[in-house]
Amino acid sequence: MRAYAVFPDDTTIHEVEVPVPAPEGSSVLLRVLRAGVCHTDTHLREGGYDLGSKGMMNMKDRGVEYPMVLGHEVVGIVEQVGEAVDTVRPGDVRLIYPWIGCGECRQCRSGHDNSCATGRNLGVARHGGYAEYVLVPDAKYLVDIDGLDPSWAATLACSGLTAHSAVDRILPLEPDEPVVVFGAGGLGLTAIAILRARGHRAICAVDRADQNLSLARDMGASATVLSGSDTTARDVRRAVGGPAGAVIDFVNNGATATLAFEVLAKAGIMVQVGLFGGEFTVPTALLALRMIRLEGSFVGTLDQLRDLVRIAQTGQIPTIPIAERALSAAEVTRALDELTAGGVAGRIVLTAPH
Ligand SMILES: [Zn+2]
Ligand SMILES: [Zn+2]
Repeated sequence: MRAYAVFPDDTTIHEVEVPVPAPEGSSVLLRVLRAGVCHTDTHLREGGYDLGSKGMMNMKDRGVEYPMVLGHEVVGIVEQVGEAVDTVRPGDVRLIYPWIGCGECRQCRSGHDNSCATGRNLGVARHGGYAEYVLVPDAKYLVDIDGLDPSWAATLACSGLTAHSAVDRILPLEPDEPVVVFGAGGLGLTAIAILRARGHRAICAVDRADQNLSLARDMGASATVLSGSDTTARDVRRAVGGPAGAVIDFVNNGATATLAFEVLAKAGIMVQVGLFGGEFTVPTALLALRMIRLEGSFVGTLDQLRDLVRIAQTGQIPTIPIAERALSAAEVTRALDELTAGGVAGRIVLTAPH
């Protein structure tokens, strides 16, 4: 089968020929229909994350083997199932939960695959959806998306799930308690839509691009701040009507994290999601005196994905703008280049030819 793989120290994605995996036991082989392109893919292509003064986190040292087939927002049609599978059959269209844990540790046993220390995420540490076929190690990771547009549904597995689980960390709040969302790309827009769907009213979006802020208003943001190097916490507080009960930072670089800490109200919740990297300085006395709750958030659980799909099926989440393009090595490269440059409104989803 054809697959589109990233090689070390090479920004071009290459077409490679690999054998079609054979499903055994509980595993399932799916033919890829849709594969969303995520910012995480740009970091995997670069080979790591910026850890500020600690240097770079190298993916190779973390067990990621290259060449790797990326793509973790995947909708496929079941092609073949292992002998132990009776929950899906060939022809079924399913969304894949890609945050696959070891299955044995405390986190995995309690349904928190995404918190597993030795997880092997699909499209990150095991081959993903930029390919003709993808192998999923257990049928339990397949989610029925009946009634949803498959391109949009694909994005629920990462950007949607990440936004949903971050919102879960800050709610319940009073509906008019200010919430600030940093970054109004695919994730931020989805978070704003979910906050609105869950009844929250005071939502301020902060972004560097006017185009993103206009989409944020469409999704239900009540205030926006066009950010630049001189943006202060006071600007953000003024826009949203006071100190924030919570912030969700989908950028999470030194500048946004510093600003996020400063806009928080006493006992505020700071949820750091983005992987843009860097570092920030926390005045430790303020952390204690103001009782700030500082949390990192990475994707979400399988149950949260099922919840999110259910909410989506009731029509309560507006779809984010999706640009569909044909799945090929050149289009994966182009999409990653555009995401790296920061010029994508909404989400790019690659569609497989039939
Ligand atoms: Zn992702
Ligand atoms: Zn585990």
